[in-house]
Amino acid sequence: MIHSSLTQLGAALRAKKISSVELTQSYLDRIAQLNPKLNAFITVNPEMSLAQAREADTRFASGKVGALTGIPIAQKDIFCAKGWLTTCGSKMLHNFVSPYDAHVISQFNNAGAINLGKTNMDEFAMGSSNETSHYGPVKNPWDTARVPGGSSGGTAAAVAARLCAAATGTDTGGSIRQPAALCGISGLKPTYGVCSRYGMIAFASSLDQAGPMGRSAEDLALMLNVMAGFDERDSTSLQREKEDYTRDLNKPLTGLRIGLPKEFFAAGMGSDVAQAVEAAIAEYKKLGATIVEISLPNSKLSVPVYYVLAPAEASSNLSRFDGVRYGYRAPEYGDLADMYEKSRAQGFGAEVKRRIMIGTYVLSHGYYDAYYLQAQKIRRLIAQDFTEAYKQCDVIMGPTSPSTAFKLGEKGDDPVQMYLSDIYTIAVNLAGLPGMSIPCGFGANDMPVGLQIIGNYFDEARMLNVAHQFQLATDWHSHAPQGL
Ligand code: GLN
Repeated sequence: MIHSSLTQLGAALRAKKISSVELTQSYLDRIAQLNPKLNAFITVNPEMSLAQAREADTRFASGKVGALTGIPIAQKDIFCAKGWLTTCGSKMLHNFVSPYDAHVISQFNNAGAINLGKTNMDEFAMGSSNETSHYGPVKNPWDTARVPGGSSGGTAAAVAARLCAAATGTDTGGSIRQPAALCGISGLKPTYGVCSRYGMIAFASSLDQAGPMGRSAEDLALMLNVMAGFDERDSTSLQREKEDYTRDLNKPLTGLRIGLPKEFFAAGMGSDVAQAVEAAIAEYKKLGATIVEISLPNSKLSVPVYYVLAPAEASSNLSRFDGVRYGYRAPEYGDLADMYEKSRAQGFGAEVKRRIMIGTYVLSHGYYDAYYLQAQKIRRLIAQDFTEAYKQCDVIMGPTSPSTAFKLGEKGDDPVQMYLSDIYTIAVNLAGLPGMSIPCGFGANDMPVGLQIIGNYFDEARMLNVAHQFQLATDWHSHAPQGL
């Protein structure tokens, strides 16, 4: 059962071959067995999950069911879920039980899905290796000496190790796609505004976007059907007609124009990654696609631009954690200012502090024009490169990550090396475009390689079609880590 797709699980539940309670319990058992090794979950709450499963089982009796009813889905611990501990991977929120549901969470609840637990993540989603979590690093299920990627590393590890049927992630600069690539699963970051950010703890609000992570493009489409949708509580949520993201899955790819950015295929990409990505492109040619060389000349500036804009927004967003309203408060302090200072000094980890300092600096008087304003201008140029490119092609492909999963501790002392993990993913967030990663082979040390597929605005259905056709023709997505 644990290798079944969401479609298969849904069918088994509707045919009453298994109940939601049984299915949920089997995943909970697997988590109890494997989580000590992987550290993929921060919180499991069997009582709450099983209560939801019992309710789902009554829905099957009444016939009011959807594609995800009764299916256990894990949630990144960045999403507020009513009654659940919601930490965002930080000591700052070690005791925060959310009094309300994020929009994404309530969409899953309405669909009758089961919240299987909260997955581990980099602190406040800042990181590419899951090593900044207050709750300790997550281990890559393909090799537990290696990182799963980040910041949605708990989700990626949980999906890869079959600890849940599918799960959610968030992506500010690559945090869905990069861990998906490093753990050999599929993940999609939708167009900015497709999923509501209400109740999703904010990192960099103009970049943050929620999205599904799962074992196949088809599973992602079913997840996105539930996650997407207008929400008036998020002023950047887009009011659009409800879409069925599965509608184009089975279209043939004949005539598809794939753009390959020459900047992505230059120095910097590991030769093992290059080999797997090139083999995937060859497969697409067999499926009827044509290849166009394109250029994204400003994409080389995306990492520096991101590391001005994202910390700037983070420094503002994180000012709410002051020890007064919620979360951690230093046990001993003098006056009010001392309480703020001690609570923040003790509650935030090193990477979060680094971002707050950079953000405060680039926004300060005298530096704002030189850094923040310049970065905003280059952000526009990066987005325009994509608009130009889409005059010549339908989707853009390249690597998701320059390397396969690296060793735990390998990049810990060098933030710039860590930041470069997202060199191929960040431009997509800066432009607000949708991007996904699907498994396309194995590289050095038999670690998974991800193929990145970037779409035009609101072209998620086409991207899922492009990914699904590849997954019908190949079986990279169905490999699972052995010997756990
Ligand atoms: N790794 C990037 C960072 O550290 C992106 C994180 C993300 O997408 N949440 O900011």
